[in-house]
Formats: sequence, structure tokens, C-alpha cells
Amino acid sequence: IRESNPLKTLNDEIFVYVTKKQKEIDELKKLELFRREFLADVSHEFKTPIFAAQGFIHTLLDGAMEDENVRERFLKKAARNLDSLDVLVKDLLVLSQMETGDIKMNIEAVDILQLSLNIFGRLENIAEDRNVTLKVKPDDLSEVWVKADQDRMQQVMLNLIENAIKYGNDGGKVIVHFNSGKKYVEISVRDNGPGIPPEHLTRIFERFYRVDKSRSKERGGTGLGLAIVKHIINAHGTKIAVMSKPDKGTTFTFKLEKVFQGAHPENEESLTS
Ligand code: ADP
Repeated sequence: IRESNPLKTLNDEIFVYVTKKQKEIDELKKLELFRREFLADVSHEFKTPIFAAQGFIHTLLDGAMEDENVRERFLKKAARNLDSLDVLVKDLLVLSQMETGDIKMNIEAVDILQLSLNIFGRLENIAEDRNVTLKVKPDDLSEVWVKADQDRMQQVMLNLIENAIKYGNDGGKVIVHFNSGKKYVEISVRDNGPGIPPEHLTRIFERFYRVDKSRSKERGGTGLGLAIVKHIINAHGTKIAVMSKPDKGTTFTFKLEKVFQGAHPENEESLTS
């Protein structure tokens, strides 16, 4: 072809080369924009609790310290803001380690049912505060073993169950559901809260994305929980999906490779007979 029409071929090659270079430049520009946006977001997220803690401490130093009630109230508020800063730094560290691949996954057999019940125990207080019932289903299961990284999966279940309690209704229900197939177990965390409007649904896994900023902050959220969840699930070689209906609730679902699943015996008699 080159011999029959050398100029046309050369033009084609130049065209392909320029298009390739342009694509690379576009990619770099996108990365740079992403980096800048991220830095701006992080600075903003840091500024809020730092300014607040600073404000309370300076007001105390400027004389408010004299009043015992004010002193205790302001110190508690300053401490709470520093605590959220601490959570934010820890979440950012986990996220950046996940993104740079610095965290080694330790895949082993994990009883995800027991792990979920332990998380229920850890969240008992906040569930009680909101009068939320925590359940696993089906309720005759005694163990569900899957292939996972125990610590990371603990973080996933903690974030999903805590969100379901935080953003669900007072007096609502949170159900962790196990749907076992031949090779995989499908795990879902469901609440019957107000749901997530469809226009926000595709964005909730982005870092710092919140549907209702004030509600998230009031409940101690960093806006990084679901971004971390998504990274961990992807690192297990699988995906997480979300479904939500206004006023009906929200369900997060993912699959893990199954190892073994056991059920409680139907009743004691059938065991001994
Ligand atoms: P946050 O720290 O704000 O909780 P997340 O990344 O965990 O951050 O969640 C992002 C946002 O997604 C939350 O701010 C909230 O608006 C929304 N969200 C997450 N889980 C639920 C849920 N179960 N029901 C309703 N909204 C939810």
C-alpha cells in the first residue's frame, strides 16, 4: 500500500500519532485537575474542624474560661472537632494506601456472619439511640465462610451498617442478608430509611461526596466511608452495587467467593433422634 500511495499512508500515520499524543495530553490534564480538586477538597475538610476547635479555645482564653459551664461545654466541643479531624486523617491514610496499592490483602476464610454480628455489637449504642433494630437473614444461619481479608471486610461492614443506621429512620430496621449460591455468597446491607435520590446515586462512592452535608457532619461522617468500601471490595476482585427507592430504603450488595455455609439444626430433638 505504501508503495502504491506513500503520501496517503504517511498522512494516516501522522494522524494516528497526533491523536495518540492528544489523548495522552488529555489524560495528563485530567489527572492534574483531579489532583488539584482533591487538594482543595482535603484542605477544605481540614479547615472546618480546625477553625471550630481554634474558635472555642481562643474564646476560652479570651475570658470565657471564668464561667465553669461555658468552660466545660467549649472544651467538649473543641475535643469533638479534634476527634473528627483524627478520623478524617485515618480515613485519608487508608484511602491513599488503597489507591497506591500499599495495602497487602490477606485473603483467608472469614465467617462473615460472625463478623457482622460483632459489628452489630460495636454499633449497639448508636442503634439504641435511634431505636433501630439490627438483624441478619435468613435467621437460621449459624456460619457463613467466605474468602476475604478479615480486617478490611470488618471496615466494609462497619461503614455500610453504620451508614444504614445513621441515614435510616428512627425506629427503623437494618438487615444484613446472605444469599448463598454454589460458588458465591451475595451479601447485602438493607435499611428502610428515606433512600438516596436517583441523581445522587451514581456519585455516592466518590470521596467527600455527601447527599446532605449537614446531616453527614452532624453524624460524624468524613464523606470517605463509601470510597473506602468501594476500594476494598474492588481489591477483592468484585464490585459493589447500590439500589435505593425514595421512602423505601437503600440496599448495598456485593459478592464474595464462598467457602462454607452452615445452618442451626432445625431443633434439638431432630439432632438427638
Ligand atoms: P459519610 O461520612 O458522609 O457518611 P459516606 O461515604 O459513608 O460518607 O457516604 C456518602 C453519602 O452517601 C452520605 O453522606 C449519605 O448522604 C449517603 N448515604 C450513605 N449510605 C446511605 C444510606 N444507607 N441511606 C441514605 N443515604 C446514604
